Amino acid sequence: MLVALALMGAGVASAATDVDAAVLTADVAFGDGITFRLEMPHPAAEPAGVEVRYGLPDGIVVRRSPAAVDLAGGVLRATYAWEPRVPLVVGTEIEYRFAIRSGDGPETRTAPATVSYIDASLPWTTASEGLVEIWYHAGGEAIEADARAGIRAALDVLRQSYGAELERPTRLMLYADIERMRRDLGGGASPWVGGAAIAELNVTVLYAPVENRDPLDLQATVAHEITHIVLEHRTENSFGGLPAWLHEGLATTVESTIAERFPYDEIMTRVVARDEFVSLRGITGSFPASGQAALNAYAQSNSLLGYIIETWGPEGVARLLEAYAGGVSDNEAVQEALGVSLDELDRAWLGTYGVEHPTFASLTAPDVAAATSPPNDDAATRPLPVSDLVAAALAVLAIAAGAVTLFRGRRPPVDPDLPKADTRWDGGAVPLGAPLGAARGRRP
Ligand SMILES: [Zn+2]
Repeated sequence: MLVALALMGAGVASAATDVDAAVLTADVAFGDGITFRLEMPHPAAEPAGVEVRYGLPDGIVVRRSPAAVDLAGGVLRATYAWEPRVPLVVGTEIEYRFAIRSGDGPETRTAPATVSYIDASLPWTTASEGLVEIWYHAGGEAIEADARAGIRAALDVLRQSYGAELERPTRLMLYADIERMRRDLGGGASPWVGGAAIAELNVTVLYAPVENRDPLDLQATVAHEITHIVLEHRTENSFGGLPAWLHEGLATTVESTIAERFPYDEIMTRVVARDEFVSLRGITGSFPASGQAALNAYAQSNSLLGYIIETWGPEGVARLLEAYAGGVSDNEAVQEALGVSLDELDRAWLGTYGVEHPTFASLTAPDVAAATSPPNDDAATRPLPVSDLVAAALAVLAIAAGAVTLFRGRRPPVDPDLPKADTRWDGGAVPLGAPLGAARGRRP
């Protein structure tokens, strides 16, 4: 299926060629790739070369590919078919432009155009809530209203209490069909995946069921995901990324202002009673675990964040984010923001449960097979949160495969290799209690 989604590039420079009259188009063949096309008047001789350059909007375009050129009747046509070896993340917006080199003159570049990598076979409706662009294909106004409510609630509490906000536009894609969503997320999506949030690509993809749904559940889920994106924006200069406990602790805290999606307190009580703590140190991506261990990790993060807020107020959390944004280590951030060491923080927090010598088990990698056989555990048999899952995994894979090299706006294009994107996978509101999953944590 070919769908033209982006058009028009007005010229920025004019040499021997009439770049002002250039028309840029891009055809998305969903699942295969994107074909970039240029057509412009060109009274001069055939250029020495034409390149297409593409990457993220508001970032720096760094990927270059030579286009096939055809000059006939004074019209220059150039085409490049980009076929990423790993699927692009659905919803990603790609900015592109063409550069025309003549034998002796200066290089001429067209103005940029953008194209969105969207599964156009679904009847998408779009809406905006502040800087968030909402895409949904089912559920109508009710789904849109809930998405808006979740976005607003998250942005309000994050701004007012924690001094953090969205710093650039982001896109929220709501899928009513989870199988379709997983397929559109590409080969990297495991059976337990309920969504993906990729700050680097400005995209969050979520499962938003239309039937038998709880409106507050969608609102809370959206608030959770938006929190992750805001935190990424707030701390993008951090050294090695925000720790998972802070990301998930705050996301679950914000989500809980709307609805209790999980009985985190109960889960935490059981963690304490059974001494089933998991070690959260050093995890900056998603929790590298599935099922009960991941749920325990969410509950611990929620509890630790709750302790910080109770002790230092929301200002303490705001200071933590500030410290991380300044690019310090975990230890330094906690010391700077709260005036205690990370160990002291741990001890004080666990002390509130009367725990002195907890056993911290390491989270282990999720077992995809487990997704089809939920752990035999009450908590794990309820629907799980479509939490984040900052799935830059897909982005990273795509990038690693040479599909595209992307830089955030603030990063200099010093290296054509990829930036280290944060990578998260979370389980979703998957029926039957498929485990909360989280795959690749990374260490600074
Ligand atoms: Zn999350």
